[in-house]
Amino acid sequence: MSQSFNRRSWLKTGLLSLGGAAMLPQLSWAESSKPITLDKSGRIVYTPLFREHTAPLEAEILAKLNANENPYGPSPKAVEALQSVALQGNRYGWGQLSVLMDKISEKEGVPKEYLMMGPGSSDLLEKFALVLFMKGGTVLSADPSYMSLMNVARSVGADWKGIPLKKDWSHDLEAMEAAIDSDTKLVYICNPNNPTGTITEYKKLYDFCSRVSEKVPVFIDEAYLDFVDGENGKSMVSLLNEGKNVIVARTFSKIHGMAGLRVGYVAALPETLESIQSITRGGMGISNTSIHAAIASMEDVEFQQKSKQLNKEARDYTAATLKSMGFEPVPSHTSFMIFPQEEMEGREFLKKMSAQGIGVRSFEIYDKTWCRVSMGTMKEMEMFTSALGKVME
Ligand code: PLP
Repeated sequence: MSQSFNRRSWLKTGLLSLGGAAMLPQLSWAESSKPITLDKSGRIVYTPLFREHTAPLEAEILAKLNANENPYGPSPKAVEALQSVALQGNRYGWGQLSVLMDKISEKEGVPKEYLMMGPGSSDLLEKFALVLFMKGGTVLSADPSYMSLMNVARSVGADWKGIPLKKDWSHDLEAMEAAIDSDTKLVYICNPNNPTGTITEYKKLYDFCSRVSEKVPVFIDEAYLDFVDGENGKSMVSLLNEGKNVIVARTFSKIHGMAGLRVGYVAALPETLESIQSITRGGMGISNTSIHAAIASMEDVEFQQKSKQLNKEARDYTAATLKSMGFEPVPSHTSFMIFPQEEMEGREFLKKMSAQGIGVRSFEIYDKTWCRVSMGTMKEMEMFTSALGKVME
């Protein structure tokens, strides 16, 4: 069963974008600048099956585990680069951007013309949504998933079809393929998926993208792929060398720990990028200093490996401790984890956790209330599990 949602029904459910923003309750420091729709209980409505509770802060936050940030970043080499180029803040970064793109081109194995840069991948998700859906059409994705691209597409008039994830939380690729029709302009796949932290098997996804991209472009958001082990950690970018119409988004916000420095990119066929760049400008939004930092961070392979290793240790600890407390966390392949928390209503849970100095997220997914916790340092995860124990007493 798919969930189809058009702009009119979306508007009917509540408030959209700026008009509603003035009337929002305090959203604490969760990401609050995206177009937001609230239901009668004050929950953010992402899809009919996926909502988010919000609550004001109760105390100073000691462990910020609500936005999937990397607690170890930026890399010391990136910081050194930032400091050394601070005085070049008066210059545009085009020259250095070209150096960064050469490095990315080498890493991804695609020519530079296949790359478009942005201040974070959000900027690119939004630009693709705007340009591809200016004249309407349908975007297809899993439900629940990371709704950024779909939110913007809907805001400019697109329809959205959401296909529930399978029982094992992977994408239901068969159902997605069956849902494609003549109105479908894009399929969006988030792998690993946010908010679930789960993976869709490499081989199955590769075959899906290879086949489906002959009919309609497939956008694969690989924000968390660097945290994945083994074959499932392989990117879909290689499909570009076979001429397939895939669009792969990557970010420096996660493994590189540069969320506040804002660097991201997509790899896609030059003709696809041309259509997007005919009315928007890739790279213009990234600061010269952040470009230098990204180059230095790419060279600091040791930092990336350390981030991955420490994230895994925090994840293993958190999953084991949650299980020992009677929770059932969903096995995560990312830098965050979800588990059902049904002892109390989501808003009350957030308030109680924040009174303990812990920031997390609370979602309604399908028919359950979930907590999503980002992986912090081991000390932060110990603070989280200890606070959770107290809140549940
Ligand atoms: N894609 C996914 C799946 C994310 O979770 C995020 C941020 O959390 C983004 C994209 C956007 O990241 P950024 O704009 O920082 O690159």
